Amino acid sequence: MLSWEHTPDLLPMRGCRAWIEINLTALAHNVQQFKTRLSPQTDLMAVVKADAYGHGAVTVAQTALQAGATWLGVATVPEGIELRQAGIAAPILVMGAVNHPEEVRAIALWQLQPTLVTPKQALVFAETLATAAPTVPLPVHLKLDTGMARLGFDWQRAGEFISLVRRLPQLDPVSLYSHLATADSPEPAVMRLQQQRFEQAIADLRAQGLCPPRLHLANSAGTLAAPDLHYDLVRVGIGLYGFYPAPHLRAAVDLQPVMEVKARVTHLNAIAAGTGVSYGHQFIAPQPLNLAVVGVGYADGVPRILSNRMAVLVRGQRLPQVGAITMDQMMIDVTSLPDLQVGEPVTLLGQSGPDQISAEDWAALSGTISWEILCGFKHRLPRITVETAVRLSTTDPAAGLRK
Ligand SMILES: *Cc1c(COP(=O)(O)O)cnc(C)c1O
Repeated sequence: MLSWEHTPDLLPMRGCRAWIEINLTALAHNVQQFKTRLSPQTDLMAVVKADAYGHGAVTVAQTALQAGATWLGVATVPEGIELRQAGIAAPILVMGAVNHPEEVRAIALWQLQPTLVTPKQALVFAETLATAAPTVPLPVHLKLDTGMARLGFDWQRAGEFISLVRRLPQLDPVSLYSHLATADSPEPAVMRLQQQRFEQAIADLRAQGLCPPRLHLANSAGTLAAPDLHYDLVRVGIGLYGFYPAPHLRAAVDLQPVMEVKARVTHLNAIAAGTGVSYGHQFIAPQPLNLAVVGVGYADGVPRILSNRMAVLVRGQRLPQVGAITMDQMMIDVTSLPDLQVGEPVTLLGQSGPDQISAEDWAALSGTISWEILCGFKHRLPRITVETAVRLSTTDPAAGLRK
């Protein structure tokens, strides 16, 4: 991934048309906010799958570990290898399904820790590792389905699954986990049912002396919803990037968005009343307007469905986007800024003056969730790390404790 070790001020010289700023101070702040919610016995796993939700996995992982996370979570084997190749030594859980012997060998080679969800998969691992002759058993994490209907072995048959894994000398079951389907809902019934099932499976396994030593269940929402969901480790993704899984969980911590998306004005156009703008002329100027072309489009990750709906911030002012968003460019109405110059920065997501636009705003406008907005940004946008002081929210009880 392209990454420049320069401050954003130097970017004009680079002629960069669009970029993403990753605020490492905000990231570290968010990690620390989660840490304040956890007991000292509970580890924090930074979930950095999907290139750290579009933020850049290596930089995010390094910063999160420095700030107090002790585990990393990825979805795929190559995502884990990328972190190892960058020299990251922390334990890495691969949360996605791994079935192929080739992947098993890579897991052992790079010292990643897989999720096992079926006896058949456990046997593939054992057979592959037996031929690879590793010296120590591979740490594995056994996942139960307690109500997500995605990855996981039937919680009611946990004993059967785990006793099989325990008989395979190549594997060392180091944790038992499950995943919550509705932890972001203000209605806790399903989440509590999942927890009851998890607890039931744990009790059964303990009675048979089979229970792995560590337990985990919570994502960001579960972590913020209730401390009794924390167990030995929490797997936090969206919260690290500064977004709340749901509005009712806002009071729990003070989170700061880590990503800002910016682009430059590349051209200025004065158009007459009645002029159609962009493909399909979905916008017709109701009066004479000054338009700016901005060098960012849907191929960068701006959802095209935001055409004619979104706004941007320029010099702290909110300006409407007009006409269809195109692959690499979009138009904004800059009539209220007559002295605007080519090259000036435009904030698509982030803070400018007193105003801000967040991934949640885009998610609401486009009928999706902030997770999808964040990981939708393409690698054509360079990620540039910045370290600027985080804004202290006035409602933050811990604000006085920080510099
Ligand atoms: C993605 C993922 C998480 C993190 O979820 P957030 O809602 O982003 O905190 C946790 N656990 C598993 C198994 C996941 O796949």
